[in-house]
Amino acid sequence: MKIRDKVLIVEDEQNIKNFMSTILTANGFDTLMAGGAKEALSMISSHCPDLIILDLGLPDMDGMEVLKQVRAWSSVPVIVVSARTHEGDKVAALDLGADDYIEKPFGTSELLARIRTAIRHTRTGLDNDSIAQSGKYTVRDLTIDYDKHHVLMRGEDVHLTLNEFKIVALLGKYAGKVLTYDFLIREIWGPKAKADNQILRVNMANIRRKIEKNPAAPEYIFTEIGVGYRMLENE
Ligand code: CA
Repeated sequence: MKIRDKVLIVEDEQNIKNFMSTILTANGFDTLMAGGAKEALSMISSHCPDLIILDLGLPDMDGMEVLKQVRAWSSVPVIVVSARTHEGDKVAALDLGADDYIEKPFGTSELLARIRTAIRHTRTGLDNDSIAQSGKYTVRDLTIDYDKHHVLMRGEDVHLTLNEFKIVALLGKYAGKVLTYDFLIREIWGPKAKADNQILRVNMANIRRKIEKNPAAPEYIFTEIGVGYRMLENE
């Protein structure tokens, strides 16, 4: 029996919520529904959905705040579906860690395609040959757990996003070697990704904020200026 992916629909408009649920169920997904932010947050921790569809205009809290709270501890794919079409809203949502952004009104096939892509990215991201690894890499206080996809500092999960984890996982796999910006971008964002060092730098700044005591003087991930990054090697 094929396991059905579980999608949580966070939407306060009954009609849209039911419409999405009907489409998804007919296309092989299981659905959960939440009409507000608080209900959504509690369902996310109790049901561990495979993907979240998130409306921004919710009655009890802004969807952006929900996204921020979820990203503090989970890398579950989140697709924002919103009537807000301002460019700034999209950028803000993506900055907070949304995987995709769909404007309302949306087409059924578009919604399904984006959901499948987001779920596939999560899977292939971690099955990716270059990252696939089992066991742990530990150097000083840092541990990369390749089976659970966690990075720990002194035993505490530092809550990396999926892409942040992939970057750290790759650097740990090749600890001691310099990985070039181009190599990292290709491995994390795919062969067709535009070589955009800016996105990589933003991710690295976030990683360092989470794992380094002083991000300006890193002890675990070093910058080789103009070349790439290198992780501290186990002595
Ligand atoms: Ca709404």
